[in-house]
Amino acid sequence: EATVARIAAGEVVERPASAVKELVENSLDADADSVDVTVEEGGTELIRVADDGEGMSEADLRAAVREHTTSKIEGLEDLESGVATLGFRGEALHTIGSVSRLTIRSRPRESEGAGTELVYEGGDVTSVEPTGCPEGTTVEIEELFYNTPARRKFLKTTATEFSHVNRVVTRYALANPDVAVTLTHDGREVFSTTGQGDLQAAVLAVYGREVASAMIPVDADGDDLPPGPLESVSGLVSHPETNRSSRDYLATYVNGRAVTADAVREGIMGAYGTQLGGDRYPFVSLFLEVPGDAVDVNVHPRKREVRFDDDDAVRRQVDAAVESALLEHGL
Ligand code: ADP
Ligand code: MG
Repeated sequence: EATVARIAAGEVVERPASAVKELVENSLDADADSVDVTVEEGGTELIRVADDGEGMSEADLRAAVREHTTSKIEGLEDLESGVATLGFRGEALHTIGSVSRLTIRSRPRESEGAGTELVYEGGDVTSVEPTGCPEGTTVEIEELFYNTPARRKFLKTTATEFSHVNRVVTRYALANPDVAVTLTHDGREVFSTTGQGDLQAAVLAVYGREVASAMIPVDADGDDLPPGPLESVSGLVSHPETNRSSRDYLATYVNGRAVTADAVREGIMGAYGTQLGGDRYPFVSLFLEVPGDAVDVNVHPRKREVRFDDDDAVRRQVDAAVESALLEHGL
C-alpha cells in the first residue's frame, strides 16, 4: 500500500511547488485571513505553511492524512462546477506524507486548551501529541522525496525550484488580496501582502512600484464583451513598457481559481499584438467569470489547465476586453 501511495505521490506532487500549492489551497479552504509560506532551499529541505484558519481537532488531523477520507467530490455536478471548489480529491496530505516527513500542528478556532501535533512519516502516523499552538494550522514538509531517490534526484537547482514556488504563491496572493500572504525563502522575506488592500495593493507588494504603477485596469462585462460564455473579464494588465521575457507573470483566474487556458493566453497576447515585441509577455492578473458548465476543468485535474466549450469565443472576449483597456490608455 505504501508503495502504491508513493507512486501515486509522484503523479500528484511533482516538485516542492506542487506541495506548496496544495497546502496554500487548504489554508484558503479553511478560510484563513493570513497564510505564511516559508521554504528552505527551494522547498526541497523544508516547506512550512502557517495559517490562522478554522484549524483541526485531533480527530480531524487523523482523518486529514488518511487516504481518501475527505474527498469533497459528491457527484458529477461537483466536478463540473469544480472550478469553484479548490481542493477536490482529498488525498494531498496523504500522498505528500508518503514521500516526506509531514508535521501538522493545529488548533480549532475558538477552542479551549491545547492544540494537536501529528507527525506522519513515509506513510505512517508516528506520533500524535497535545501541543501549545495558536489557532489555525501549520503544516511542515521536510525533505520531500527522501524515500523516492529517483524523484529526489529529478529536482532542479534551488533557484529553479524556488522560482516555481514563487510563481505559485504569487498567483494565490494576487487572487486573494483580502488574505495576508507572506513568502520567505532561506530566511529572506520575498514579499508580503497586507490582506487589506485591493488587487493594485497586492500587485505593488508582489511586483514592486515600477510594475504596479504601470498597470492598466480591465473591467468588461455584459455588452462590453463580444458574444461568448464569459460573463466578465476584470483585473490588471501591464503597460507594454514593463513587459518581461517570461510568461511567469501571466496570472489568470477562472471563477477565482488560478488556472491556465490557451484561449485566455492567446486572447491576451492578441490584444497586445505587435506592441509586445519579440518574445515578451505582459504582467497580467486577470479574473474571468464563466458559468461552470462552459468550462472543462478535467483536462489535467492536478494541473491548472482548463479548456472551454467554445475556446474561440473566449479568445475573442479576452482579446476585446484587454484591447479596449489598452485603447483607453492610448495604446
Ligand atoms: P482536500 O483538500 O482535497 O480535502 P487534503 O489532503 O489537501 O485534501 O486535505 C485533507 C483535509 O484536511 C481537508 O479536507 C481539510 O478538512 C483538512 N485540512 C487540510 N489542511 C487544512 C488547513 N490548513 N486548515 C484546516 N483544515 C485542513
Ligand atoms: Mg487540499
